[in-house]
Amino acid sequence: MTPDRLDRFARHIVLPEVGGAGQARLVASHVVLVGLGGIGSPALQYLAGAGIGRLTLIDDDVIEASNLQRQTIFTPADIGRSKAAAAADWVRRFDPALVVTAHDTRVTRNTARSLIAGADVVLDGCDNFATRLAVSDACVAAGIPLTSAALGRFQGQVANFAGHREAHSCYRCFVGDAFDAEDCDTCADLGVLGAMVGMVGTFAAMHALRVLLEGAATLGDPQWGQLHVLDGLKPALRTMRIAADPECSGCRSAL
Ligand SMILES: [Zn+2]
Repeated sequence: MTPDRLDRFARHIVLPEVGGAGQARLVASHVVLVGLGGIGSPALQYLAGAGIGRLTLIDDDVIEASNLQRQTIFTPADIGRSKAAAAADWVRRFDPALVVTAHDTRVTRNTARSLIAGADVVLDGCDNFATRLAVSDACVAAGIPLTSAALGRFQGQVANFAGHREAHSCYRCFVGDAFDAEDCDTCADLGVLGAMVGMVGTFAAMHALRVLLEGAATLGDPQWGQLHVLDGLKPALRTMRIAADPECSGCRSAL
Protein backbone atom coordinates (compact mmCIF):
# COMPACT_ATOMS: atom_id res chain seq x y z
CA MET A 1 0.00 0.00 0.00
CA THR A 2 1.15 3.53 -0.80
CA PRO A 3 1.68 6.05 2.03
CA ASP A 4 -1.64 7.78 1.35
CA ARG A 5 -3.48 4.44 1.51
CA LEU A 6 -1.68 3.51 4.73
CA ASP A 7 -2.76 6.86 6.10
CA ARG A 8 -6.37 6.36 5.00
CA PHE A 9 -6.62 2.99 6.78
CA ALA A 10 -4.36 3.80 9.75
CA ARG A 11 -7.14 3.31 12.33
CA HIS A 12 -7.80 -0.20 11.01
CA ILE A 13 -4.15 -1.14 10.83
CA VAL A 14 -3.48 -0.09 14.41
CA LEU A 15 -6.30 -2.36 15.65
CA PRO A 16 -4.80 -5.70 16.78
CA GLU A 17 -7.96 -7.46 15.53
CA VAL A 18 -7.34 -6.23 11.96
CA GLY A 19 -3.71 -5.15 11.58
CA GLY A 20 -1.70 -4.71 8.40
CA ALA A 21 -2.38 -8.26 7.22
CA GLY A 22 -6.10 -7.81 7.75
CA GLN A 23 -6.18 -4.49 5.90
CA ALA A 24 -4.21 -6.01 3.02
CA ARG A 25 -6.83 -8.78 2.84
CA LEU A 26 -9.66 -6.22 2.70
CA VAL A 27 -7.94 -4.28 -0.07
CA ALA A 28 -7.59 -7.51 -2.08
CA SER A 29 -11.24 -8.52 -1.54
CA HIS A 30 -14.26 -8.54 -3.82
CA VAL A 31 -17.71 -8.04 -2.29
CA VAL A 32 -20.97 -8.38 -4.22
CA LEU A 33 -23.90 -6.42 -2.77
CA VAL A 34 -27.40 -7.53 -3.72
CA GLY A 35 -29.78 -4.67 -2.98
CA LEU A 36 -28.71 -1.04 -2.47
CA GLY A 37 -31.68 -0.05 -0.33
CA GLY A 38 -31.97 0.54 3.39
CA ILE A 39 -29.55 -2.27 4.26
CA GLY A 40 -27.27 -2.06 1.22
CA SER A 41 -26.67 1.71 1.40
CA PRO A 42 -25.09 1.89 4.88
CA ALA A 43 -23.39 -1.48 4.32
CA LEU A 44 -21.80 -0.10 1.16
CA GLN A 45 -20.60 3.01 2.98
CA TYR A 46 -18.70 0.97 5.57
CA LEU A 47 -17.39 -1.59 3.08
CA ALA A 48 -16.08 1.16 0.82
CA GLY A 49 -14.72 2.91 3.89
CA ALA A 50 -12.90 -0.31 4.79
CA GLY A 51 -11.13 -0.18 1.44
CA ILE A 52 -12.68 -3.30 -0.12
CA GLY A 53 -10.82 -3.25 -3.43
CA ARG A 54 -13.59 -4.46 -5.68
CA LEU A 55 -17.33 -3.91 -5.30
CA THR A 56 -20.11 -5.27 -7.49
CA LEU A 57 -23.47 -3.57 -6.95
CA ILE A 58 -26.73 -5.17 -8.07
CA ASP A 59 -30.21 -3.60 -7.90
CA ASP A 60 -32.94 -3.21 -10.52
CA ASP A 61 -34.78 -0.50 -8.59
CA VAL A 62 -35.02 3.22 -9.24
CA ILE A 63 -34.56 5.84 -6.50
CA GLU A 64 -37.74 7.41 -5.16
CA ALA A 65 -38.22 10.36 -2.80
CA SER A 66 -39.50 8.01 -0.07
CA ASN A 67 -36.15 6.12 -0.14
CA LEU A 68 -34.13 9.12 1.13
CA GLN A 69 -35.31 8.67 4.73
CA ARG A 70 -33.05 5.58 5.06
CA GLN A 71 -31.01 4.97 1.89
CA THR A 72 -28.11 7.07 3.02
CA ILE A 73 -26.02 7.31 -0.15
CA PHE A 74 -28.74 8.93 -2.28
CA THR A 75 -29.75 12.57 -2.56
CA PRO A 76 -32.76 14.32 -4.13
CA ALA A 77 -30.70 14.76 -7.32
CA ASP A 78 -30.68 10.94 -7.68
CA ILE A 79 -34.48 10.54 -7.77
CA GLY A 80 -35.44 8.60 -10.89
CA ARG A 81 -31.94 7.16 -11.39
CA SER A 82 -30.92 3.51 -11.19
CA LYS A 83 -29.89 2.62 -7.62
CA ALA A 84 -26.98 0.51 -8.86
CA ALA A 85 -25.61 3.28 -11.10
CA ALA A 86 -26.06 6.01 -8.46
CA ALA A 87 -24.44 3.79 -5.80
CA ALA A 88 -21.47 3.17 -8.10
CA ASP A 89 -21.13 6.93 -8.62
CA TRP A 90 -21.15 7.37 -4.83
CA VAL A 91 -18.27 4.86 -4.52
CA ARG A 92 -16.24 6.64 -7.23
CA ARG A 93 -16.65 9.96 -5.43
CA PHE A 94 -15.85 8.43 -2.06
CA ASP A 95 -12.72 6.51 -3.07
CA PRO A 96 -11.55 6.53 -6.71
CA ALA A 97 -9.06 3.73 -5.90
CA LEU A 98 -11.87 1.19 -5.55
CA VAL A 99 -13.01 -0.79 -8.58
CA VAL A 100 -16.80 -0.74 -8.83
CA THR A 101 -19.22 -2.44 -11.23
CA ALA A 102 -22.96 -1.73 -11.35
CA HIS A 103 -25.67 -4.10 -12.59
CA ASP A 104 -29.08 -2.50 -13.05
CA THR A 105 -30.80 -5.87 -13.05
CA ARG A 106 -32.79 -8.28 -10.88
CA VAL A 107 -31.03 -11.40 -9.64
CA THR A 108 -32.89 -14.50 -10.82
CA ARG A 109 -32.17 -18.22 -10.67
CA ASN A 110 -30.75 -17.92 -14.20
CA THR A 111 -28.53 -14.89 -13.65
CA ALA A 112 -27.38 -15.32 -10.04
CA ARG A 113 -24.39 -17.52 -10.75
CA SER A 114 -22.78 -15.16 -13.27
CA LEU A 115 -23.60 -12.01 -11.26
CA ILE A 116 -21.83 -13.25 -8.11
CA ALA A 117 -18.88 -14.89 -9.88
CA GLY A 118 -15.52 -14.19 -8.28
CA ALA A 119 -16.91 -12.77 -5.03
CA ASP A 120 -15.19 -13.43 -1.71
CA VAL A 121 -18.51 -12.79 0.01
CA VAL A 122 -22.00 -11.81 -1.14
CA LEU A 123 -23.94 -9.41 1.09
CA ASP A 124 -27.65 -9.82 0.48
CA GLY A 125 -29.88 -7.02 1.75
CA CYS A 126 -32.60 -7.31 -0.88
CA ASP A 127 -36.34 -7.12 -0.22
CA ASN A 128 -37.79 -10.45 -1.35
CA PHE A 129 -37.46 -14.15 -0.65
CA ALA A 130 -37.29 -15.31 -4.26
CA THR A 131 -34.11 -13.28 -4.83
CA ARG A 132 -32.66 -14.28 -1.46
CA LEU A 133 -33.10 -17.97 -2.21
CA ALA A 134 -31.69 -17.62 -5.74
CA VAL A 135 -28.66 -15.82 -4.30
CA SER A 136 -28.21 -18.40 -1.55
CA ASP A 137 -28.38 -21.38 -3.91
CA ALA A 138 -25.90 -19.71 -6.30
CA CYS A 139 -23.53 -19.00 -3.39
CA VAL A 140 -23.63 -22.65 -2.28
CA ALA A 141 -23.08 -23.88 -5.84
CA ALA A 142 -20.15 -21.50 -6.39
CA GLY A 143 -18.61 -22.05 -2.95
CA ILE A 144 -19.05 -18.39 -1.95
CA PRO A 145 -19.96 -17.34 1.62
CA LEU A 146 -23.16 -15.34 2.12
CA THR A 147 -23.88 -12.55 4.57
CA SER A 148 -27.65 -12.34 4.82
CA ALA A 149 -29.40 -9.36 6.41
CA ALA A 150 -33.09 -8.62 6.71
CA LEU A 151 -35.46 -6.35 8.61
CA GLY A 152 -39.07 -6.71 9.62
CA ARG A 153 -40.27 -3.55 11.35
CA PHE A 154 -38.08 -3.44 14.49
CA GLN A 155 -36.55 -6.89 14.20
CA GLY A 156 -33.29 -7.25 12.31
CA GLN A 157 -31.71 -10.57 11.33
CA VAL A 158 -28.06 -10.99 10.29
CA ALA A 159 -26.14 -14.22 9.68
CA ASN A 160 -23.17 -15.58 7.79
CA PHE A 161 -23.75 -18.80 5.87
CA ALA A 162 -21.29 -21.28 4.39
CA GLY A 163 -23.67 -23.90 3.01
CA HIS A 164 -20.94 -25.09 0.63
CA ARG A 165 -18.99 -26.40 3.63
CA GLU A 166 -19.88 -29.68 5.23
CA ALA A 167 -21.89 -29.43 8.46
CA HIS A 168 -22.73 -25.76 7.83
CA SER A 169 -26.23 -24.53 7.06
CA CYS A 170 -27.32 -22.27 4.21
CA TYR A 171 -30.01 -19.57 4.05
CA ARG A 172 -32.46 -22.12 2.57
CA CYS A 173 -31.91 -24.39 5.61
CA PHE A 174 -33.16 -21.41 7.63
CA VAL A 175 -36.29 -20.39 5.69
CA GLY A 176 -37.19 -23.56 3.79
CA ASP A 177 -38.59 -23.90 0.27
CA ALA A 178 -41.95 -22.24 0.82
CA PHE A 179 -40.90 -18.75 -0.13
CA ASP A 180 -39.38 -19.31 -3.59
CA ALA A 181 -42.13 -17.53 -5.47
CA GLU A 182 -43.22 -15.13 -2.76
CA ASP A 183 -42.32 -11.53 -2.05
CA CYS A 184 -42.09 -10.62 1.61
CA ASP A 185 -44.04 -7.79 3.19
CA THR A 186 -42.73 -4.58 1.75
CA CYS A 187 -41.58 -1.43 3.51
CA ALA A 188 -44.27 0.46 1.63
CA ASP A 189 -46.95 -1.54 3.43
CA LEU A 190 -45.42 -1.81 6.89
CA GLY A 191 -43.16 1.22 7.25
CA VAL A 192 -39.51 1.18 8.24
CA LEU A 193 -37.44 3.37 10.58
CA GLY A 194 -34.29 4.67 8.92
CA ALA A 195 -31.99 4.37 11.92
CA MET A 196 -33.16 0.80 12.58
CA VAL A 197 -32.43 -0.44 9.07
CA GLY A 198 -29.12 1.44 9.30
CA MET A 199 -28.18 -0.65 12.35
CA VAL A 200 -28.90 -3.81 10.39
CA GLY A 201 -26.91 -2.60 7.39
CA THR A 202 -23.83 -1.72 9.41
CA PHE A 203 -24.16 -5.00 11.36
CA ALA A 204 -24.16 -6.78 8.00
CA ALA A 205 -21.04 -4.88 6.88
CA MET A 206 -19.30 -5.93 10.10
CA HIS A 207 -20.32 -9.53 9.45
CA ALA A 208 -19.01 -9.45 5.87
CA LEU A 209 -15.69 -8.14 7.24
CA ARG A 210 -15.55 -11.15 9.58
CA VAL A 211 -15.84 -13.43 6.55
CA LEU A 212 -13.18 -11.57 4.58
CA LEU A 213 -10.73 -11.56 7.49
CA GLU A 214 -10.98 -15.30 8.17
CA GLY A 215 -7.43 -16.61 8.39
CA ALA A 216 -5.88 -13.13 8.14
CA ALA A 217 -6.85 -11.44 11.41
CA THR A 218 -8.48 -12.34 14.71
CA LEU A 219 -11.67 -10.46 13.78
CA GLY A 220 -12.03 -13.10 11.09
CA ASP A 221 -14.45 -15.38 12.88
CA PRO A 222 -17.47 -15.61 10.58
CA GLN A 223 -19.71 -17.34 13.15
CA TRP A 224 -21.21 -19.48 10.38
CA GLY A 225 -24.88 -20.31 10.80
CA GLN A 226 -25.35 -18.13 13.89
CA LEU A 227 -28.41 -15.97 13.37
CA HIS A 228 -28.25 -12.69 15.27
CA VAL A 229 -31.67 -11.23 15.96
CA LEU A 230 -31.73 -7.54 16.79
CA ASP A 231 -34.71 -6.15 18.68
CA GLY A 232 -34.60 -2.45 17.95
CA LEU A 233 -37.29 -1.47 20.42
CA LYS A 234 -35.86 -2.89 23.64
CA PRO A 235 -33.03 -2.85 22.37
CA ALA A 236 -31.66 -6.38 22.66
CA LEU A 237 -29.68 -8.96 20.74
CA ARG A 238 -30.11 -12.71 20.84
CA THR A 239 -28.31 -15.36 18.83
CA MET A 240 -29.52 -18.74 17.66
CA ARG A 241 -27.88 -21.50 15.69
CA ILE A 242 -29.32 -22.46 12.32
CA ALA A 243 -28.65 -26.19 11.91
CA ALA A 244 -28.01 -27.69 8.49
CA ASP A 245 -31.23 -29.29 7.22
CA PRO A 246 -30.39 -32.79 5.95
CA GLU A 247 -33.25 -32.45 3.43
CA CYS A 248 -32.19 -28.97 2.18
CA SER A 249 -32.39 -28.73 -1.60
CA GLY A 250 -29.99 -25.78 -1.58
CA CYS A 251 -26.95 -27.15 0.16
CA ARG A 252 -27.14 -30.87 1.05
CA SER A 253 -27.41 -31.97 -2.57
CA ALA A 254 -24.47 -29.74 -3.52
CA LEU A 255 -22.04 -31.46 -1.16
ZN1 LIG B 1 -29.22 -25.61 3.17
